[in-house]
Amino acid sequence: MTARVTGKKILTGALAAVLSLTMTQAIAKGADQSTVNLQHVVDQAYTKYKDFKEGKNADYIPILATVPSDLFGVVIVTRDGKIYAKGDVDYKFSIQSVSKPFTASLVMQQQGPEAVAEKIGVEPTGMPFNSKVALELLEARSVNPSVNAGAIAAVSMVQAKSEKDRWKQVLQNLNDYAGSDLKLMDEVYDSEYSTSWSNRAIANLLYNYGRLYSEPEEALRVYTRQCSVGVSAKDLGIMGATLANEGVNPITNKRVLAAEHVPELLAVMAMTGFYDESGIWQYTSGLPAKTGVGGGIVTVVPGKFAIAAFSPRLNEAGNSIRAMKAIRYIAGELGVGLYGANPE
Ligand code: GLU
Repeated sequence: MTARVTGKKILTGALAAVLSLTMTQAIAKGADQSTVNLQHVVDQAYTKYKDFKEGKNADYIPILATVPSDLFGVVIVTRDGKIYAKGDVDYKFSIQSVSKPFTASLVMQQQGPEAVAEKIGVEPTGMPFNSKVALELLEARSVNPSVNAGAIAAVSMVQAKSEKDRWKQVLQNLNDYAGSDLKLMDEVYDSEYSTSWSNRAIANLLYNYGRLYSEPEEALRVYTRQCSVGVSAKDLGIMGATLANEGVNPITNKRVLAAEHVPELLAVMAMTGFYDESGIWQYTSGLPAKTGVGGGIVTVVPGKFAIAAFSPRLNEAGNSIRAMKAIRYIAGELGVGLYGANPE
C-alpha cells in the first residue's frame, strides 16, 4: 500500500515535472498559449503590481483627477473569445486615446490604409501627444493617428452626412470592436470640452494647413465625445482581441476591419501607441499597443490574444504605469514579443 502510494506520488511528481517542462517550453517559444495557464499569469501580474503606487491621475481634464487612483484590473482576451481577468476589470472609465486606432480603423475601412498614410501620416513624432510644435515642424501636420492632431484629422475623415452621423458612426465602430453598447460619459465630455483650448488650437491649425477634412469645431466635438466613451478593461480586451483575430470580433463574430488592413493598423499602434515613449515600449515589449490618459492600455499579440489593463496613475508621458508594467510582465512571461521573447 505504502509502496503503491509512493509509486503514485513519484509518478505524479514525474508527470508534474513533464507538464511543467512542457509549459515552460511553450512559454519560452511563445508557440502555443493553449497549454499555458493564462489565468495564472494574469493573477501573477495583478499580485505583483497591486500595491504599486507611483504616478498620478491625469488632471488637465479636471474630472480624471477624481477617478479612484487605486483601481487596477488586468485581462487577457483570446482570439476565440476566452476571458482571463483579475481585479477591477468591469469598472467603466473614459477610453481617451485608446479610441484613436479604432477610429483610424474606421477610416481605413472606408477609404483604405493609403488614405491614412497620405491624409494623416504614419510617422512617430517623438513628441508629446498634444504637441503643437510637431504640427508646425512636420509637414504632415497631423503626423499620425495616435497623436491628438492625427486623431482629430481621422474623425474629420469619417465619411458622414452631418455631425450627428459622424458621431453615430464613430460610436458604432467602437461598439462593434467591443461587442457591446458603450455609453458616452457625459460628465467626462463636459469636463474635457469646456477645457479643450489646446485641442481647439490643434483643430484650427490643421484646418489652416488644409489637413482637416470637416469643420474644425465639429471634428473637435466628435473627437472629444469619442475620448469620453466609457469602457472597462474587459471591453478593451475584447477590442484588442478583435484585432488579434484579424478584424473579427470573437464574441459577436462580426467583421469590423478587413483582415488585409489589420497589419497597417497594428503597425501604427506599434510605432506610435505610447506617445513619446513608443520607442522604449517597442524595445521592451515588442508588441503593438495603445494607451490613454484615462489609465487604460490595450496590447495586441497578433493572431493570439489581447492583453488589457487599467490603472489611473500615469507617468510624465501620460501612460498608466501599473497597466504598462502588468502588460509588460505578462508579455515577458509568455514570450510573445513579435521580434522574439523579451523576458523581464
Ligand atoms: N482626450 C484626450 C486629449 O485630447 C486624450 C489624450 C490621451 O489619452 O492621450 O487630450
